[in-house]
Amino acid sequence: MRKRVRIMDAKTELYGIIGNPVQHSLSPVIHNGAFGRMGRNAIYLAFEVKNLGEALNGIRGLGIRGVSVTIPFKTRVISFLDRLDHFAGKVKAVNTIANVGGDLVGYNTDCFGALEALEEKIDLKGKRVILLGAGGAARAIGFGLKEKGCQVVLFNRSRDRAEVLASELGCAHHSLSSLKEMDGDILVNATSVGMSPFDTASPVPKKVLREGMVVMDIVYRPVQTKLLEEAEEKGCITIDGLEMLARQGAAQLDIWTGWRQEVWQIKEDLWRVLEAERSD
Ligand code: NAP
Repeated sequence: MRKRVRIMDAKTELYGIIGNPVQHSLSPVIHNGAFGRMGRNAIYLAFEVKNLGEALNGIRGLGIRGVSVTIPFKTRVISFLDRLDHFAGKVKAVNTIANVGGDLVGYNTDCFGALEALEEKIDLKGKRVILLGAGGAARAIGFGLKEKGCQVVLFNRSRDRAEVLASELGCAHHSLSSLKEMDGDILVNATSVGMSPFDTASPVPKKVLREGMVVMDIVYRPVQTKLLEEAEEKGCITIDGLEMLARQGAAQLDIWTGWRQEVWQIKEDLWRVLEAERSD
């Protein structure tokens, strides 16, 4: 079969990611791979942004069709948008912007990505969830888990952030360092503990993990984190960070183009790039 050659021309649609830093983002891999499969005349680029207001003006002014939003702008970006979808408004965090005829509309697909990955392994209703973290990702996942009827308990390093999120979620919170013994059906790590280059660390003592528990780590660099390694040793059901990453990306593509990409194809693209990085 002849390979389809992608030509960029005056009709090429522009998408991208805004954040700082963004050089290590895998989002261009997700979206350019998907555009190639769709045969869509579109390209996705990474923009390291210093001035958020100017970047948002640029999106409007240049007619950029959609952008992903990453650290540190997921909350701050809200004040620059024209509308928020219901869930993004509730979570108060946006990871996706669609340019709808000049109006910038904010969405949050992080939650969808995480919940879909969890629901592939377990029915969430009524489950006891140990949620680690109180940053942007924990916030999105926490709201989603509550909507699914889970009993969430929050653990975070800093008390102030945990207090704010726990009061919005209506759940208990404790210090991450106090997590010694705690029974739960599910444990989700939404902190950055375990992320490269500090990948020998796990956010929880191994004794918290027990056979049959579903353990999801949303850190995806490395894919096999210390937490997941120990969870496997203890007989837990594990979910790695690529599962959420691929699904939140698929949901972004759906918002922007109306196409639903196969998650396995996105994961294959991600694996290819991560393997290449490892062998460099
Ligand atoms: P964030 O808003 O900066 O929050 C970071 C969280 O990690 C906070 O709860 C912070 O606690 C905690 N933390 C950081 N360093 C720590 C340490 N040394 N010890 C204990 N806690 C620590 O970041 P985020 O956007 O929520 O992202 C969190 C992680 O999720 C990152 O690794 C990111 O790459 C990953 N992520 C993955 C996906 C995916 O699709 N798989 C999507 C989004 C994010 P404090 O409140 O005490 O600072």
